[in-house]
Amino acid sequence: MAWARQLLRVNLTNGSIKKEPLNMEWANDYLGQRGLATKYFSDEVDPKVDPLSPENKLIMTTGPLTGTTASTAGRYSVVTKGALTGAIACSNSGGFFGNEMKNAGLDMVIFEGKSDKPVYLFIDNDDIKLIDASDLWGTSVWDTEDKIKNDHQDPMIRVASIGISGEKGVKYACVVNDYHRAAGRSGVGTVMGSKNLKAVAIRGSKGVTVKDPKAFMAAVSAGKEVLAGNPVTGEGLPAFGTQVLMNVINETGALPTHNHRDVQFAGAHAISAEAMAEPRDSDGKPNLVTNAACFACTIACGRISTVDRTHYTVAERPQYHGASGGLEYEAAWALGAATGVDDLDALTFANFICNEQGYDPISFGATVGAAMEMYEEGYITDKETGGIELKFGSAKALTDLAELTGKGEGFGAEIGLGSKLLCEKYGHPELSMSVKGQEFPAYDSRGIQGMGLTYATSNRGACHLRSYTVASEVLGIPEKTDPLVAEGKAGLVKAFQDATAVFDSAGICVFTSFAWSLEDVSPQIDAACEGDWSVDRLLEVGERIWNLERTFNNAAGFTAADDNLPQRLLKDAAKTGPANGLTNQLDVMLPEYYQLRGWTGDGVPTNETLSRLGL
Ligand code: SF4
Repeated sequence: MAWARQLLRVNLTNGSIKKEPLNMEWANDYLGQRGLATKYFSDEVDPKVDPLSPENKLIMTTGPLTGTTASTAGRYSVVTKGALTGAIACSNSGGFFGNEMKNAGLDMVIFEGKSDKPVYLFIDNDDIKLIDASDLWGTSVWDTEDKIKNDHQDPMIRVASIGISGEKGVKYACVVNDYHRAAGRSGVGTVMGSKNLKAVAIRGSKGVTVKDPKAFMAAVSAGKEVLAGNPVTGEGLPAFGTQVLMNVINETGALPTHNHRDVQFAGAHAISAEAMAEPRDSDGKPNLVTNAACFACTIACGRISTVDRTHYTVAERPQYHGASGGLEYEAAWALGAATGVDDLDALTFANFICNEQGYDPISFGATVGAAMEMYEEGYITDKETGGIELKFGSAKALTDLAELTGKGEGFGAEIGLGSKLLCEKYGHPELSMSVKGQEFPAYDSRGIQGMGLTYATSNRGACHLRSYTVASEVLGIPEKTDPLVAEGKAGLVKAFQDATAVFDSAGICVFTSFAWSLEDVSPQIDAACEGDWSVDRLLEVGERIWNLERTFNNAAGFTAADDNLPQRLLKDAAKTGPANGLTNQLDVMLPEYYQLRGWTGDGVPTNETLSRLGL
C-alpha cells in the first residue's frame, strides 16, 4: 500500500533492465524517497567514489504519498553523490514526473554504470527500454521534451532530462522535468550526463492504493483545509510565489548582496514579486502571467512569466516569446542581488536559460557574483572573461554568461565550475560563498543566525531546504524566535532538519510545512501506509535519515572542519539593517548542535546514537 513495492535497476554499461521487490524492512525504517533512496545508495556505493565515474549510481525516487491525492503529492527526488560537492546529494522536484513514475508502478529507478552512447529510458507501464538518444544529445531540455513526446506521439508523456550543460559537465547541472521544474542542486544533472543518460520518459496508469481509503480521504481533506486557511500557503504563496520574500528579507537585513559584501540590496523592489505584477513600460503587460501548481498541489506557488519582447537580451530569441517558468525567490536573489543586477527582464531571461539548458540558477548567480568581485578586485581581467565587462550590476554580463554557461563555452565554462573551484583557480578561495562546495541560497546568516548553522551542517552543502529556520526567525512559524540571537538555534535547526527529512521522504512538498507540522502529516501517512506512523516514529525516521547522510559524508572524507562558513560571515560584520555590527555566531551554536545530535566534539555520531537509531 502507498509504496509500489517495486524498483527498477538499469545497468547502463550492459543495457540490462530488471525489476526488484522494494526492501520493505528499509521502507519501514526510512519511509521513502530521500530516506529510502539514501539507504539504498549508501549500501551500494563506496562513499569515496568519484561522482563522475561509472561506479557512482543515480537514483530517481518517489515517496509513499507520491501519486496520491494528498496536497503536493507529486514529488520525486534524485539521489547520488553530488558532482558539485562530493557529498551525498538529494535534489527534489515537483511538476508531474514523480506522479507518472509512481503510476508506472515504481518506487525508484536505480541507474548504474555508464552507457557507451547517449540513451534515454522509456517507461510505458511494463514496456521499458533504453532508446538511442544520439539525436537528442546537444539539444536543450525544452527541445528534448518536445522531441520525445513527438516521437512517441503522446503529449502526456512526462520527461525528466538534462540540457547541454549536463552534457558539458557544468558542475551544478540539474535534472529538469515538465520544462521548468528541477531537481536543481548539487550537480545531480552533471552525474546523469556523465552516464550518457539524456532523459527518462514515463507514462504510467497503474494507480496508487492506500491502506485505508476512507481515513486517507479524511486526513487529506483536513490537511488541505489547514493549507487553505493559512496566510502563507493559502494567500501569500499562491498570490506572490516564493518571491513574496524579496522585500521581507531585504528589510530583515539578510539579503546577501554583491557576493555577501552587503546584506541589503537597493534594487530589491525592482526584482520582487510586487514588481513582477506591475505593468511594464514597453507593452503595459506585467512580467507575471499566472500562478501554477505541481501535481495535486493546492498551494500553487509556481510562477509563469513572460519577458519583454523588446528587451535587448531577448529581441533575437523568438523561442523566449512565450510564457514559461518565472522567477522564484532563490533564483531572483542569485541572479539579482548576488550580482547587483536589478533588471527584471534580464533576470527572467537568464532564468529561462537556466531552465532551458538545465543548470541551477542559485549556484550560477552566486558564482557570477563571486567572479564579479574577483573582476572588480583585479584578480581576473578581460583576458580571462573574453572581453565581458564583469562588473556588479551588469545585466549584459549576466545574460551573456547565462548563454555561455549553458553551452559550456568561453568564460561560461569557468563559471560552470562553481564558485569554489573558480575562486581557488584564481587564488582567492575566500571569495567563494559556499559550504562543502555548494553556494549559499538567499539568506545572509549574519541577519538570520540559525541559517548559519543550517548551512554549516547541511549534508548536501549550503542549502535552505534542509532546515528552513527562516520560517521561525522571520515569519514566526511555528513560533517566533529572534533572528539576531544564536542561543537556542541549535535545537531549532535539529528539529527542522529532522522534520524536513520526513517531508522529503513522504513524497510531499516542503512548502506545506509553512502550515503543516508532523501532526498534520502523520495521519496522512498513517492512513496510506501499513503500520503505525505516529509523530514520534516519524521524528525518529527523520533523525535516522539525517545521521545516515552524515555517516556517508564522514566516510566520504568530510570532517567537522567542513561544518564551517566563509570567513566573511564570521569576521566581517553586517554594515546596514537590523544586523548592523553582527557576524554569524557559529562558534556558539555548533558545539551545542553536536551535543544535541549525540555526536562527538568532532562531529561524528557516537556508537550509542548509531545504535539507538539502528544504524
Ligand atoms: S507548493 Fe509550489 S513547489 Fe510545492 S508542490 Fe505546490 S506548486 Fe509545486
